[in-house]
Amino acid sequence: MRIDLHTHSDRSDGTDSPRALVHKAAREAALDVVALTDHDATTGWAEARLAADEVGITLVEGVEISTTYRGASVHLLGYAFDPDDAALVEELRRVRAGRDERLPRILAKLAEAGMPLTEADVLVHSENAAATGRPHVADAMVAAGYVKDRTSAFDGWLNTGGRAHVERYSAPLEQAIDLVKGAGGRTVVAHPWSRESRAVLDLEVFAHLRSLGLDGIEVDHVDHDPASRAGLRAIATELDLVMTGSSDYHGTGKSEAFSLGANLTDPGQHERLLG
Ligand code: AMP
Ligand code: FE
Ligand code: FE
Ligand code: ZN
Repeated sequence: MRIDLHTHSDRSDGTDSPRALVHKAAREAALDVVALTDHDATTGWAEARLAADEVGITLVEGVEISTTYRGASVHLLGYAFDPDDAALVEELRRVRAGRDERLPRILAKLAEAGMPLTEADVLVHSENAAATGRPHVADAMVAAGYVKDRTSAFDGWLNTGGRAHVERYSAPLEQAIDLVKGAGGRTVVAHPWSRESRAVLDLEVFAHLRSLGLDGIEVDHVDHDPASRAGLRAIATELDLVMTGSSDYHGTGKSEAFSLGANLTDPGQHERLLG
């Protein structure tokens, strides 16, 4: 069984349609189970469901919520929840609105730095997306010839601390767990030891999050080196949390290291989480 529980389509910042992603998952990556977890949006679920039925693969409907905990950005994966739950729908809408509202200020900073772009220049890269985020600004910077790829656009410009960085709203982590659980879903902290969230997510914090209903930790992720994976595995074992593995696929929006199936979830862990 090949199980990949974290991927992005062009409904957020991936580059494949949900249909193309599901077809690739089945035919190229030979996955048996794939989760679609677009950032703060469930707008790809219906198309992905039709495609999964066409190709005979198991689809897990999910989302990756942009949250904050003790000042650090933390991504929370939510699975198999009611997509019409009013409180959750409203919070996801608020995160997406924060992303959209930030765009003019990012463009003003880029213009000051000598890289003028119009909103239309950016919006062509987020046509199918539920909101326009930094990756779409990065795509416009690449198209204008200002930088060579998304990574170069983040480094020094769009990243936290970069010259064109602008804060946006994120859901408080505890509230996000509560909302997904309240909507009947499961929750897993995505790549907990990548970048800034590493400093705040330790054993004690995971124990607290578990008491709020957290179900699992994403252990096997390209951002985690072998030592981080071992450390997170020890925490998950100690707290009896599910351990997942996934690619965080974004199509051509991220490197080969994020290919579909690059990291997988153990079938027993998948069963515990979603069975
Ligand atoms: P936003 O949510 O609009 O603030 O943009 C953050 C998203 O940008 C993250 O969820 C990542 O998927 C993506 N991202 C962050 N850093 C990079 C990078 N260096 N290269 C490509 N995409 C990135
Ligand atoms: Fe992303
Ligand atoms: Fe993430
Ligand atoms: Zn992701």
